[in-house]
Amino acid sequence: MPLGVVGALFVHLRGTGRLYAQGVPRPQQLLTPGPTAVPPEVLSALAQPVIHHRSPDFAEVFALAQERLRAVFRTERDVLVFTSSGTGAFESAIVNLLSPGQRVLAVSQGEFGERWQAMARAFGCDVVPLAYAWGEAPSPDDLRTALAESGAQTVFLVHSETSTGVVCDLEQLLAVCAEADALSIVDAVSSLGAVPLETDAWGADVVVTGSQKALMTPPGLAFAAVSERAWVRAETATLPRFYWDWERQRRVQEKGSTPFTPATSTVVALTAALGLVLADGLEAAYARHRALGRACRAGIKAIGLELYSPDDDSAAVLTGALTPEGVDAVALRLALRDKHGITIAGGHGELVSRLFRIGHIGHVTVEQIAGAMTAIEVELAVVGADVEQGNAAPAALEAFGTVASA
Ligand SMILES: *Cc1c(COP(=O)(O)O)cnc(C)c1O
Repeated sequence: MPLGVVGALFVHLRGTGRLYAQGVPRPQQLLTPGPTAVPPEVLSALAQPVIHHRSPDFAEVFALAQERLRAVFRTERDVLVFTSSGTGAFESAIVNLLSPGQRVLAVSQGEFGERWQAMARAFGCDVVPLAYAWGEAPSPDDLRTALAESGAQTVFLVHSETSTGVVCDLEQLLAVCAEADALSIVDAVSSLGAVPLETDAWGADVVVTGSQKALMTPPGLAFAAVSERAWVRAETATLPRFYWDWERQRRVQEKGSTPFTPATSTVVALTAALGLVLADGLEAAYARHRALGRACRAGIKAIGLELYSPDDDSAAVLTGALTPEGVDAVALRLALRDKHGITIAGGHGELVSRLFRIGHIGHVTVEQIAGAMTAIEVELAVVGADVEQGNAAPAALEAFGTVASA
């Protein structure tokens, strides 16, 4: 089957690993939904000498980080900064806001929603699930009914479900929480900075995210923006807490540090990364993510593959697609990594052999997406799949808007 000019070039290049030899490691492009690629400015910030967390040097950079975090979270509140992965910040919300046996309505539409249900159960909460099939989006009407029936006063929501690519209508779901006067805890780990999220204006009580996705920073920091209502709730919640104690965290943050040694270099890097995000503006970031999603979907369709993530602009965080029947997605991912220097993510459960996910979060260009599309075309042809060749990269570029229409 003809590979086309671009495909032939890829086949040629992949045989020339020696181009990367002479001690220069083959660069890997991270097109995964976290951790994500980090811009050079952020890498050089990481390379600065380590600073001490009880020094004016840290207090200064931490104050700037706070200011920038508030801008990205779209909030006036302090943002608590933990040295952990995103899961740690979510655990902090559970242990500061809930008591043993307390009822919580946990909305799930994929892996992460299920994780929060399991976590709340582990802490002895009375978890009422509002569970959707993976790939579905939660509906405000279902939430209204479930809140009325369960009488729960706390709700877990996942904004962008990274296992499926579904981004829910968070604004509407939060409006339903407000109607029922229920406290909302939002997992925004893969959404904050990629798609619109108005923490204050939409009335989210707690918004949790991590450093390693749209915030273009290495893994290691997690954040929680906490509403006044949530601070009041925390006063009566009785689950035990120590490392995650919000009250102590707030007290020490007000003095320009954190209770325990933070990942100081990662805070420095975060400050640089948020500076880049805000220099272009959040609207530009949202528009870029939407356009990258369009490019990816156009490429996948031009290859003739089936989309797993939604086929609309809501899927701005990642694109999931299925390999043709009988073509192993795990082998495809390995070929992309080993032969083309492109790392993408896999699937889960029954779909592990068919699903692959391409993250377009943070520091990603459409040229990288176009390159990944060509590499996918080529590798599918190599295993004998009957797919179109040579169309995906042009389709991706055109959908992104970089190709002037003739
Ligand atoms: C990445 C991610 C998390 C957090 O994962 P950690 O590995 O704990 O940082 C949580 N929720 C969603 C939706 C994510 O994408």
